[in-house]
Amino acid sequence: MSDTSQASFYDVIVVGAGLAGLGCAKRLHQHGVDFAVISENIGGRVNTSPNARVNYGAYYLTEDCKNMFPFLSHRRLIRLSDFHYRRGSRHYHFGIKAIIVYIGALFRLWCDLREFRVHFVAMRNRAVGESRETLIESDPVLKKYYHQMAGDYINERGLGALVSEYLEAPLWASFFVDCRRVPTFVFLQCLFPMIIKTYAFVLDFSKVSAGFTNHILQDSIQKIERKQDGFVLYSRKGSQYECRRLVLATPMTITNTLITSQPIKKTIECSFMHIRGTIKKEFDDPAYTIFPAEEHTVISREEDGSYLYFYTGKNRVADYFVDWETITQHTWKPALILLGDEYINVHPEPGIFLANDHDVASTEDAFINGKYTAKLVLEDMGTEIKS
Ligand SMILES: Cc1cc2nc3c(=O)[nH]c(=O)nc-3n(C[C@H](O)[C@H](O)[C@H](O)COP(=O)(O)OP(=O)(O)OC[C@H]3O[C@@H](n4cnc5c(N)ncnc54)[C@H](O)[C@@H]3O)c2cc1C
Repeated sequence: MSDTSQASFYDVIVVGAGLAGLGCAKRLHQHGVDFAVISENIGGRVNTSPNARVNYGAYYLTEDCKNMFPFLSHRRLIRLSDFHYRRGSRHYHFGIKAIIVYIGALFRLWCDLREFRVHFVAMRNRAVGESRETLIESDPVLKKYYHQMAGDYINERGLGALVSEYLEAPLWASFFVDCRRVPTFVFLQCLFPMIIKTYAFVLDFSKVSAGFTNHILQDSIQKIERKQDGFVLYSRKGSQYECRRLVLATPMTITNTLITSQPIKKTIECSFMHIRGTIKKEFDDPAYTIFPAEEHTVISREEDGSYLYFYTGKNRVADYFVDWETITQHTWKPALILLGDEYINVHPEPGIFLANDHDVASTEDAFINGKYTAKLVLEDMGTEIKS
């Protein structure tokens, strides 16, 4: 970095230190690039309670998330028996009865999931080097599911009753809308826990950013101007930063306010309360209390005895709790951007690169996407790329 009287100058600035920005920064650091990360916080939508036990954003990882596992400080296996279904006065589990009643539908879904996983993992393995759009569009299985609505897939495969009884509730808890409205790609991605081990996790961000923590500056970028040989960034704190190349690792809703806007998928918002209190007797389950999609609610009893209450629409905490004390509450805006099948252009203008979870959502995929974006930056700089 060099200082001028007005601004700090870097070869590359990465805006945003969520998993996408950190994945990008990690690869730039490995190549000795002069860079800074400017972000409102570290972790973004991976956000953990002060006692490092409860995740407020991303909650689970499957065993296929190989990039994330080295950075975990804590993980706990999630079991199917952890899910307590509530439908009116009914309280039930996924078990032998479900398997007997829905054996045919379950077998079809299991076959599809196994096939999809093979293609999905192959795509992930190549995604640090090639764009998601190229990888998905060149794979007939992924391409079909990316552009198909899950509602159509559910009808086509005769899964309607299974979905209504057993799948829509845990899927609502994964992405906060009716599962029939998401692309089949997302529907199947969020059902991987049916066939592979899945963990609640806590990420250690000092491990993720090891070696480049001092490159991360806490600030918020409000405006970007192009100058002759790069960019000037204006921050909320009144600082100016300059760079030759710029990576925007912010959610696309924010990126679109900073540069020329491009079409994106529709967003999903959700709110949560992290509370201590007394839950009503009828919802007093040891782990996850899940409801039909139209109830817009999931409640998780956490390891430390506190509760997470996630909802969309009206806050109805009093319907579920006798008394409560709020530890934290927040609305994620956006929580996820996954309703649709648009791809974004990750190199939309000379010198500008994007990294995010838009094309494929998840912590693992955001991190991989950041690494891919770093590759594009390094190529643009003429740097020889290490693996
Ligand atoms: C409630 C919820 C549950 C989820 N569950 C899961 C799950 O179980 N498993 C899973 O894998 N994924 C899950 N996800 C999705 C996952 O969290 C995201 O896909 C991933 O974390 C996105 O990373 P990102 O870096 O693209 O964006 P973000 O994490 O949003 O990072 C963006 C960063 O940019 C910063 N920023 C924004 N604007 C500015 C600005 N103007 N100036 C400077 N900095 C700025 C932010 O502070 C943030 O640090 C969940 C998300 C939510 C919200």
